[in-house]
Amino acid sequence: MSEAVRRVLTGMRTTGALHLGHYVGALTLWLEAQKDPNLECFFLLADLQALTTHADRPELIRDSVRQVTLDWMAVGLEYWKPNVNFVLQSQVPARGMLFHLLSNVVRWSEVERNPTIKEELKSVGGNPSAGFMVYVVDQAADIYMVSPPNKSGNQLLVPVGADQLPHLNDARMWARRFNRDYAPVFRPCEGQVGKVGRLVGTDGDSKMSKSLGNAIMLSDTPEVVTEKVMGMFTDPNRIHRTSPGDPENNPVFTYLDAFDPDPEQIQEFKSIYRAGEINGVSIGDVELKRRLASVLNDFLNPIREKRHEVVRYDLEGILQKGTARANGIANEVLDRAMEAMHLGFKGVNKQ
Ligand code: ATP
Ligand code: MG
Repeated sequence: MSEAVRRVLTGMRTTGALHLGHYVGALTLWLEAQKDPNLECFFLLADLQALTTHADRPELIRDSVRQVTLDWMAVGLEYWKPNVNFVLQSQVPARGMLFHLLSNVVRWSEVERNPTIKEELKSVGGNPSAGFMVYVVDQAADIYMVSPPNKSGNQLLVPVGADQLPHLNDARMWARRFNRDYAPVFRPCEGQVGKVGRLVGTDGDSKMSKSLGNAIMLSDTPEVVTEKVMGMFTDPNRIHRTSPGDPENNPVFTYLDAFDPDPEQIQEFKSIYRAGEINGVSIGDVELKRRLASVLNDFLNPIREKRHEVVRYDLEGILQKGTARANGIANEVLDRAMEAMHLGFKGVNKQ
């Protein structure tokens, strides 16, 4: 019996450097995945998906391919391992063909009712590009371009932040539909969400995001991190340090929960904060913020150092290795999908 084929496909848009939300929501899971030598990982630099909201800033997208790759290496993704591939989305032509095939399996109403799309449309504005409206289908093509055959034991895992779950549900449904209507080509994907599926922004908004200006970047200097933390939103009803507060709605606590190496101490702070005062001990927001700034800078220091080192690496060489591997698999998957849809006229394309 042949070995099960287990793969991971996940990615990030190249719309700027990465922030703490990307780290806790996605990168922690990716770092875990790459440790398993029997799990082949494809980490996608989604430059085409970046176009769906940033088509007017092509230079930014190009520069971000470099920034995101540097961030990935700085946090410890190991592109040189045999099971790790950094893939540049725009350089996998078969992926675009898969998108074409899949877009005819998807109903328009399914795209329109996706809750994450509805939410994102609020910031995209009233006249989104056609590319934006179909990006969930395009993302399904990303996932299935490395699909193993649909056999039990084979796996296609997609570690992501919680905002991506509706997309993955759709992608599973579309693969099943394709398999039912044509042939069992795609292994339906499985989503994985970590302990913190959605990190709030420094303004207390529901998602840390570059575009909302509420993000702490992995590449921010210690001074900038401290400044951003000291300016963070806290419980507005808490006027005195002895007033009872609500730690659950204070993003400073959310970040301490995610990054402080001493969780017991944080639980104790929360009890005091909730009560206002316990045995004459109280805690001020400024104190908490100072602790957070120092915790975050301790966490980011080794990442900053690594970034300095990897900045000299040959970017194209790194992306070439993973992209070549993805192309090899995607061409095979596309052949299977074309055959299944009765489009397998391969002989016509001989040059
Ligand atoms: P931004 O909103 O900052 O522009 P983005 O959502 O466009 O970022 P993506 O490339 O779409 O970034 O996301 C890459 C991965 O990071 C996805 O798995 C996404 O769920 C995750 N992610 C992004 N922001 C957060 C966050 N604030 N909390 C948890 N996960 C996040
Ligand atoms: Mg996104």
